Amino acid sequence: QSFGSREKFLEEQINQGGDKVRLSKMFLPTLREIPTEAETISHKLMLRAGLVRRTAAGVYSYLPMGYRVIRKIEQIMREEMNRQGGQEFLLPVLNPAELWQQTGRWDVYGDELFRLCDRQGRNYCLGPTHEEIITTIAHNEINSYRQLPQLWYQIQTKFRDEIRPRFGLMRAREFIMKDLYSFDRDEAGLHESYMKMHEGYTRAFTRAGLTFRVVEADPGAIGGKGGSHEFMVMADNGEAEILYCDGCEYGANVEKAVILPTKHEDIDFRQLAERELVYTPNCRTIEDVGLYLHHTADKAVKSVIYETEKEEYPVVLVLVRGDHQVNEIKVKNLLDCLYLSLAREEVVNQVTGADVGYAGPIGLKEKIKIIADPWVYEIIDGECGGNKTDHHWIHITPLRDFKNLDIEVADVRMAAKGEPCPRCGKTLNSARGIEVGHIFKLGTKYSESLHAIYTDEDGKEKTIAMGCYGIGIGRTMAAAIEQNYDQNGIIWPAPIAPYHVIITPISIKEPEQKQIAGEIYTRLGKAGVEVILDDRDERPGVKFKDADLIGIPLRITVSPKYLVVNKVEFKVRKTGEACLVDIDRVVDEIN
Ligand code: ATP
Ligand code: MG
Ligand code: MG
Ligand code: MG
Repeated sequence: QSFGSREKFLEEQINQGGDKVRLSKMFLPTLREIPTEAETISHKLMLRAGLVRRTAAGVYSYLPMGYRVIRKIEQIMREEMNRQGGQEFLLPVLNPAELWQQTGRWDVYGDELFRLCDRQGRNYCLGPTHEEIITTIAHNEINSYRQLPQLWYQIQTKFRDEIRPRFGLMRAREFIMKDLYSFDRDEAGLHESYMKMHEGYTRAFTRAGLTFRVVEADPGAIGGKGGSHEFMVMADNGEAEILYCDGCEYGANVEKAVILPTKHEDIDFRQLAERELVYTPNCRTIEDVGLYLHHTADKAVKSVIYETEKEEYPVVLVLVRGDHQVNEIKVKNLLDCLYLSLAREEVVNQVTGADVGYAGPIGLKEKIKIIADPWVYEIIDGECGGNKTDHHWIHITPLRDFKNLDIEVADVRMAAKGEPCPRCGKTLNSARGIEVGHIFKLGTKYSESLHAIYTDEDGKEKTIAMGCYGIGIGRTMAAAIEQNYDQNGIIWPAPIAPYHVIITPISIKEPEQKQIAGEIYTRLGKAGVEVILDDRDERPGVKFKDADLIGIPLRITVSPKYLVVNKVEFKVRKTGEACLVDIDRVVDEIN
């Protein structure tokens, strides 16, 4: 077959309206009953609307209608990444352990990492994020400043063995992420890339029809000392708590929110304890935190957690001091433990005011006092504060003991709702949000350990400055539902709706209705409208219910009542508004 005829064939296909479907033929297993396995609105509705099915805990199969939404969201992300200069890759899911050992994350990542072994006994993990892989490509291929900057991304399945997979696609163990990595000559370049992503994400979530806030964030396990922002879709079911100010643009994840000074006696220890512990992103209770730490921390810390779990409100406080050198991987363990799970730097600083210092990713720069307590761990540090000879101690103590120890506690408290905004002094509000996107300045954390180095204009070798930027595709889909539904079902924002229009004849058995519905269907398909024809031999009530449940933005009802005046009814899913439209004008009205 010649190229020409193939082209013609494709064109014909398009003219026939490729993107339309007859519901009688489509696999769309909607459910009347509310599935018991689901807790949140989006999870329930995704199951009821026949979008996904659970395969295992945190593992989902996307059914045809659901996968269309996924692809729509992916396409928006792709276009916005391309607009910012992003270039699309597809990186392997299977990651060799060596790369993860090189960055230290093989040990640090903990049980969230899915690990496996090949027949030769070589270790691998299933990528939960792709810094290791992509930085290795940069290491191999980039040598000159002339090749920088680069913005490389992919849309790929990620694996994280979450402690508590829940809420359907919201916190899954296998999920799709758009992840982009920026490579720049220096901090200034990184900042530029970061701002491009900030812009790209803002555009993408706006296009997807979501209401969101950009808030200051803690970089979490990925690390990096630069800035970090989260894109939060506002929703009551959100796992994150956000503080925001109406007076100015300030917003922060409470994980990050600044600590405001207060009087010693004002400190609510329970609240402090809870807030510190809520720091671990998916934990809402002390029990969650214990579990989380148990799964993420290194062995030394784990054993402490077992102890503190018995306490009613344990605070885990880490104090560290230096003496001599130790093994580097272990240091990274420690640092990440601190990072993932432990007390906020300011709290520790002000709590102690003592004689020994430590500077690491949590930024414990002030002197801290070493407290005698039952759990003292000797730890390691190769890089803290740049002092290679430091040797560190880690002390972990539950709140009760902590209070009994005669330490000058405080003058600190986390910012909370109702308090003054740190920027403009107006009152802070709080709301719940879903983290759909996260941007980080990594700096040289990965480029250093994987030797991603280039030769600059001045002939000197320099380390590439990196950033990383992630969007959860499935979580975005869930978040869109959390924001757009009513008692009858989903109300898709048009840009991510699986189809734009559903045509519902009252009775497909009536020849006139069947014919008119069929004609509108063909014409809309040709006009590029993505359209469903509900040609099932069902009662109108059933068809209307399904149309509402699956949330198609516009329903066209073909009813004998209106056909007598040559009209059909348009009904907008979102507002419930209805109007009559001349059959001949249907396509024009939609375009
Ligand atoms: P969380 O705080 O919710 O655990 P995270 O901070 O660990 O998320 P990142 O490492 O920042 O996640 O990953 C980038 C994006 O990937 C997140 O903003 C989120 O949209 C998505 N994501 C992360 N974990 C999951 C998950 N388990 N299921 C679905 N999407 C996820
Ligand atoms: Mg997070
Ligand atoms: Mg996480
Ligand atoms: Mg994050």
